[in-house]
Amino acid sequence: MLASTSLAAPASNPLLTPSSLPYQAPPFDRIKDSDYVPAFEKGMAEHLAEIRRIANDKAAPTFENTIVAMERSGQLLNRVQNVFYGVYSADKDDAMDAIDSKEAPRLSQHQDEIYLDPKLFGRVRTLWEKRDTLSLTPEQAMLLDVYYKQFVHAGAELSASDQKTLRDLNTRLTKLETAYGQKLVASAKAGALVVDRKAALDGMDDGAIAAAAKAAEGRKLTGKYLIPLQNTTQQPALAAMKDRATRKALFDRSWTRAERGDANDTRKTIAEIARLRAQKAALFGYPDYAAYALYDQMARTPEAVNAFIHKLVPATAAEQHREVAALQKVIAADHQKFALQPWDWTHYAEQLRKQEFALDQDEIKPYFELHTVLTDGVFYAANQLYGITFRPRKDIPVYNPDVMVYEVRDKDGSPLGLMYFDYFKRDNKSGGAWMSNFVGQSDLLKTRPVIYNVANFTKAAPGQPQLITSDDVTTMFHEFGHALHGLFASQTYPTLSGTSVARDFVEFPSQFNENWAMDPKVFAHYAKHYKTGAPMPQALFDKIKKAAHFNQGYALGEIVAAAQLDMSWHELPASAPLQNVDAFEKKALDETGLDVAHVPPRYRSSYFLHIWSNGYSAGYYAYLWTEMLDQDVYSWFMKHGGLTRENGQRFRDMILSKGHTMDYGPMFRAFYGKDPEIGPMLSHRGLTDTDTDTGTGN
Ligand SMILES: [Zn+2]
Repeated sequence: MLASTSLAAPASNPLLTPSSLPYQAPPFDRIKDSDYVPAFEKGMAEHLAEIRRIANDKAAPTFENTIVAMERSGQLLNRVQNVFYGVYSADKDDAMDAIDSKEAPRLSQHQDEIYLDPKLFGRVRTLWEKRDTLSLTPEQAMLLDVYYKQFVHAGAELSASDQKTLRDLNTRLTKLETAYGQKLVASAKAGALVVDRKAALDGMDDGAIAAAAKAAEGRKLTGKYLIPLQNTTQQPALAAMKDRATRKALFDRSWTRAERGDANDTRKTIAEIARLRAQKAALFGYPDYAAYALYDQMARTPEAVNAFIHKLVPATAAEQHREVAALQKVIAADHQKFALQPWDWTHYAEQLRKQEFALDQDEIKPYFELHTVLTDGVFYAANQLYGITFRPRKDIPVYNPDVMVYEVRDKDGSPLGLMYFDYFKRDNKSGGAWMSNFVGQSDLLKTRPVIYNVANFTKAAPGQPQLITSDDVTTMFHEFGHALHGLFASQTYPTLSGTSVARDFVEFPSQFNENWAMDPKVFAHYAKHYKTGAPMPQALFDKIKKAAHFNQGYALGEIVAAAQLDMSWHELPASAPLQNVDAFEKKALDETGLDVAHVPPRYRSSYFLHIWSNGYSAGYYAYLWTEMLDQDVYSWFMKHGGLTRENGQRFRDMILSKGHTMDYGPMFRAFYGKDPEIGPMLSHRGLTDTDTDTGTGN
């Protein structure tokens, strides 16, 4: 299929020229799979030629002929990447798989050619060294600083021999990270629990047992039952299982999945990755990899991350002890005598949840009709806070008939951007939910944001109302929070625009927007029975709110433990010997002060994909950090009148419209009036802050 692509006449390839549709929306009605490869190839060639022209410019470097020229370069490549990867994640076919395999390594080489070009870096450094004499605006100064530091971080300033060592380390690390990912997939598959007797699955419903029988058949184990492993330590199937031996067996399969001493054992690989990362950090003069990786994050240093994690421990541990005692009572009421173990937790917590917070999704769902939630909930909250309005655009082409497009207008009616919503699960869509841009905002390039939200909601049968779960509602508000961050972007330079911010900042606007889903005024506006239009009964609303506080010692504790484990691995000095993975992990977890005997980390070292090959090394804490930021700001809103235009405008002006034009610490402090603190985040989870000094001190 790929062979024919080069035959396409360039003139017929709609990716090669900027779209003439409103907001430069991608012309999905005209783009064919065969257009991508020629556009990628031409895009890379053009970009490289532009970069070479900048690097070889005879004129002395200026901000305009170097930095701005780089910002203007690569527009074709950006366009094809944005369209290809947007559709590839949401609506892929086999041809796109082949295109990705071909282009992904080419793109990473392309990146290296730019960042390891000594002439180009020489120009950037010259400018950076005299930055105080260039009369730059704050945004320009930030842009120059970001470019300089990215080059340095990629190794541009190292000696020739250190650069050789770096390339060597990078190659070895990439190989190990890839090998790790493959072993992990294989070990999770092999880790599935096989059960011989149906009786061992007592408690599971008929549908789940039938699925387990079918899964076993799929592996030629007819007559048996197979429970596949989820990627986390705890396994959802444990909730229903009454047989304690089966529970223990499933938990053990999960906990030791990548530690069986076979070809899929990951321990040697991760110990080696940790060692090489420490060596890489040492090349750059950092004490450890965490210090190297955190340079451009809001937290900035391992000390700030550790201080944050340690502050969460007392309240979390206290809640864990309360939960252990409560579950031990449920076990006693079940006429059992054993002491609670991790494989019992999910099962007895589910019983307690049913007793105290019984939430029946079938009772709730009739109040959550997707289009009503979108227009009367998500859009309504945004209108109340920011004054923006939405209207459907059925004339804009889409890549799949399920996609809905809206035009977003600003408070004064002026155009703001386009929004695509692609909510339903498909077999050819990646899992989870996400937001990104087809077109990024930039005053320099005269582009406005074209943004999409993608999710995996179950589509109703034809003719049935499109009802969704309360988790789906949260997801809609979350992804739209990212969208607002992109829609309100008002940057000159694309590199600093909108959601192009640090990992420990980017989930802050999205998590913040989730809060409005349960705001009484917003909730009453969208949560109406799809048949009668009646509002949800108050008692049911209260139950949903109360249920959100259940089991939070476990839920928070498993993430805190994982975040600590991540930091411990990445604070090893380069001189440390190769670690024994289990001994290292035990020591790191014992030192947390959490009840890890009952609440193990959400991911164990050997199957912690985020930190070994998914770009979250020394970064897993970011999920909790952004929750702190979001709850601090939400508490500020509550103290200042909640859902008002005035509050929304302030948040838009000081955070949502800022992109990365400022350092995150000062940006946050300007809004909140002080450093972030953990109190609001803990009380949001129903935990009590036991620490009097709650500032994070960064
Ligand atoms: Zn998100």
